[in-house]
Parts: sequence; structure tokens; C-alpha cells
Amino acid sequence: MQNTEQFTNKQKQAEKKANITEIFSSVQGEGPLIGFRHIFLRFMGCDLRCNWCDTPNSLITKSDKKAQIEQKAGARNFAEFDNPMSIEEIANAIIKLEANTPHQSLSLTGGEPLLQKDFIKDLIPSLKAQNFQPIIYLETGGHRYKELSEIINLLDFVSFDLKLPSSTHEKPLWDLHAKFVEILSQSPQVYAYAKAVLTDETQEKDLIQACELLLKNPILELVLQPVSLVFNKSESKEKITGLIDYKIPTPEKMLRFQEIAVEIVGRKRIRIIPQTHKLMGQI
Ligand code: SF4
Repeated sequence: MQNTEQFTNKQKQAEKKANITEIFSSVQGEGPLIGFRHIFLRFMGCDLRCNWCDTPNSLITKSDKKAQIEQKAGARNFAEFDNPMSIEEIANAIIKLEANTPHQSLSLTGGEPLLQKDFIKDLIPSLKAQNFQPIIYLETGGHRYKELSEIINLLDFVSFDLKLPSSTHEKPLWDLHAKFVEILSQSPQVYAYAKAVLTDETQEKDLIQACELLLKNPILELVLQPVSLVFNKSESKEKITGLIDYKIPTPEKMLRFQEIAVEIVGRKRIRIIPQTHKLMGQI
């Protein structure tokens, strides 16, 4: 009976596939793990449309679009693979990069990786079974709390966004963010931090609401990230999403945002950190 179950589980795992934009090795450019070497697994598809999204190529799921897979860590020698890709194909690509040079983390990113939680549920154990050592890092919009609860036991680190409507031009997600924070509070073994991307249009009331939400969790740090204007993709975001333009907040405005956040959350939990991989010319 057990053998039959094991066989069925393996068969189900073999059938699971995901649409992937790219897999590559680079430097983590955001948040507290800045500068560490990561393998990035970028899933296709997102249910949000942030005005400043820096991964427009990953917003829409298109199976006819090839996955770009780096063949040697850091060499930028990408090969094209048909989508959707199987767990075995993706695990092999990740293990190959890790064999070239040790990485601190595997970053599950997108798009919105939590849309692929069923796939992730099988991918991570498959990697661990092959003695994969890097920590498992999830980068998410911070709104899909149900999906988070299903895979949180597989994660070591969560980087999640608090989406400020005046910055994203999206509808408010406060209730979803609150539930997301609640789940993280129940999982102290997972290190997490929140990130808010700020633009010239960001309103102080949105930042205050985000900070008040963090009062429910005494250890979460908030990174204030001024929006980046540098794009590393050839396709313009307008072409793909029809989104509008935005501006970086002035340095004075960033300092004011930090003062507001410190007043609510405390001086030890609020940092301003820009995206640094773009400054280094990293992807
Ligand atoms: S959640 Fe992330 S991938 Fe989705 S639109 Fe916003 S920035 Fe882009």
C-alpha cells in the first residue's frame, strides 16, 4: 500500500510544472541580506500591477515564452528551455549553478511566487533530498497569506512588501497584509522583514498605516526602498502593462518618511536601503 502511495506521489510530482522566466546566479540587491550570492528562480505570473514593477517580463504567464537558464553561475551564458518546466528540470538547473559556486540563498521570486505554492511544495523537498545547502528565501508581494501558511515550514527567510496604494496605484491590501504578518508572527523560526517602495507620490498616511500594522509584530524590520528608475530589461514596461510613470522621492522626503516610521515603530527597525544590484550592473 505504502509503495503504491509513494509511486502515486512521485507520479504527481513528475506531472507538476511551472512557467519560469529565468534562473540565474547573482547578488542579492535588496534588504538585510544585501550582497550575498543568491540563485534566483523567477516564476512567471503576478496578480498585482505595481506602478513601478521592475520585472514586467514576469507579470503575464505565457507558456510559449522560453525560460532563460544560466548555464554557469555568473557567466551570463543563458540557454533557452521550453515552458512549462518540470520539477526535475528546474531542480537540475539550480543544483548545477550551486555546483559552480556556493550560494547563500535560493531566492524564490517573480512575478508572485506564492501563486506557485503547490509547485514549491514539491520543489524544495526535491532540492533538500539532493543535499542542497543554501537557505530558502521567498520574495513576495505580502498579500497571499493562505499560500504562505501552506509553505512556511519550507522557508528560512521571507522578504515581503507592504504595498502602499499611493505608491503602487493598486487597490489597498491592508487586510491581506495584516493576515500575512499574523502568519509570520506564528512562525518565529522564519526570519522576515517588510519592504515598502516609496515614490514621489507616496502619501504619509499610507506609510503610517503600514507602520501601525507592524506594531503587531515586535521584531519585523521595515526597509524603506526609494523606487529605482533603472531597468535591466529590453522591453519597456509600458509595452507590456500600460502602466504610467513615477519619480524617485527627494532625499529630504526619504528622511521625512524615515522619521515618520521611526516615530511609530522605533529607531532600531527602520532602514532606508535602495536597490543596489542595479548600481553594480548586476541582473
Ligand atoms: S508584486 Fe512584484 S512582480 Fe507583481 S507587479 Fe508588484 S512588483 Fe511586479
